[in-house]
Amino acid sequence: MAINRRDLLKITGISAAALAVGGCAADNAASTDAPKGFSLSNSELMPAPKGNRVVVCGGGFGGLTTAKYLRKASKDIEVVVIEKKENFMSCPYSNVWLGGVQGVSLDTLSFDYYAPAVKNGYTFIQATITGFDRENRVVKTDNGTVGYDYLVLAPGIEYDYSKLTGGDKAKERTLRMECPPALMPGSEHLALHKQLRDMEEGNFIISVPEGAYRCPPAPYERAAMVAYYMKTNKIKGKVIILNPADKPYAKPKQFLESYASLYKDIIEFHGNTTIKSVDTAKKEITVNVKKGDATETKTVKYEVANIIPKNKCHPLIKMAGIDHNADGYAKIVLPNHASPTDARVYVVGDAVAATNFAAGSGYPKSGFMANAQGRIVAKQVAAAMGKIKDDGLALPDNTCFSLVNGTPKEGIVVNHKVDYIVEKDKDGKDIKKIKVSASVGDRSKDLGKANDEWFKSIMNDLFS
Ligand SMILES: Cc1cc2nc3c(=O)[nH]c(=O)nc-3n(C[C@H](O)[C@H](O)[C@H](O)COP(=O)(O)OP(=O)(O)OC[C@H]3O[C@@H](n4cnc5c(N)ncnc54)[C@H](O)[C@@H]3O)c2cc1C
Repeated sequence: MAINRRDLLKITGISAAALAVGGCAADNAASTDAPKGFSLSNSELMPAPKGNRVVVCGGGFGGLTTAKYLRKASKDIEVVVIEKKENFMSCPYSNVWLGGVQGVSLDTLSFDYYAPAVKNGYTFIQATITGFDRENRVVKTDNGTVGYDYLVLAPGIEYDYSKLTGGDKAKERTLRMECPPALMPGSEHLALHKQLRDMEEGNFIISVPEGAYRCPPAPYERAAMVAYYMKTNKIKGKVIILNPADKPYAKPKQFLESYASLYKDIIEFHGNTTIKSVDTAKKEITVNVKKGDATETKTVKYEVANIIPKNKCHPLIKMAGIDHNADGYAKIVLPNHASPTDARVYVVGDAVAATNFAAGSGYPKSGFMANAQGRIVAKQVAAAMGKIKDDGLALPDNTCFSLVNGTPKEGIVVNHKVDYIVEKDKDGKDIKKIKVSASVGDRSKDLGKANDEWFKSIMNDLFS
């Protein structure tokens, strides 16, 4: 049987863009002795780098931004993005889609990886990264290896179910499928959307995790959007938020005001509440509620449960063998985002350790932040490669809108400003740190409009 261009792409896992831009990838893959249709995992997916190649691991908000802005910084830089997914689905704005807000469909959230690769002149390889050989500067994937001169890691987060399941993998799979967390795009979001569409009455439970997690406002925005859906579709029931702290972790006053004004009979906010166990067969959640020094145990029935487990860093950071904290998040040198372990490795986005920023709170885990960091890192890497002059070390900032009403569209916002501060260490020496300060905006139609505009503009930045 003759092998056509499409078959070749399937076998090698290399996109049309990779062929168009990289040119040599197909020659290289085709030149191996591997029989057609079998794994080419020992083959080199690209020719050896010539000193100007940056491999970006992960094609999410941070990775795609870094890739684009590296190419913008210098056309002499060869950029390769390795991403395991076939296409991109956005987490930001997915709650708006979940809420059934008019004019928002799955198409609104979905993008192909090829167009931005072709437009910006980087190579896109669809493959799952399985390891690193930092000594020889090689990324290993399920489909073959890629050599690099500089490495950017942007793999995002992973879930830590251990507290909920005691390490029982079967329980974890059940929980993940039946009570999808929907902090990572794909089936989890589709499943939650379908469960809500199938719901005739009952409780929709949202459990907020303890510790640093992706997009602190997301569960609270989700509560508002689910309540909006239930209200507009006249579904009898409650949206119950189980929250470890006494108030929401993000925009507390603004979320609680929106719930009280717009969804008084629908949303119940339960503070100081953590999940003890979930019985998916009985559709029951047992919770611990802290009341002063006492703890009360209660059971709540659900129709749909959005159980968000504790977040940890994606294991790619540990796999790379670079310095990280207890949850696997990468420590970075401030503020250029290089790893303290290896000056040729940079980290961007949610995978960065927030706790590394001792002064004030850490960087929030958001798409806005990942985008801002990607632009900074692109310049830093281009400067380290001698392609541009380092024009000073910028700091990222953050703006995070949340839609709380669908008709009319109304939003709330938090802005984070990141500044340098100088503190004395124990020996009286000046040490430079960063401080993150936040300001919030109350519910308004203008912020509903600004949310739409922000989403359009960031998608435009990533995909054109
Ligand atoms: C419901 C929801 C709403 C949100 N709303 C907002 C919002 O309004 N504003 C905002 O700023 N942020 C928002 N966020 C947060 C935002 O989505 C994340 O902070 C952002 O995606 C982080 O970017 P990242 O590049 O670090 O990670 P990601 O975007 O997750 O990208 C990581 C990529 O790495 C890939 N990858 C992982 N492992 C491998 C591997 N082994 N091989 C190859 N590829 C791999 C993944 O497939 C993924 O594509 C929201 C999040 C959620 C869940």
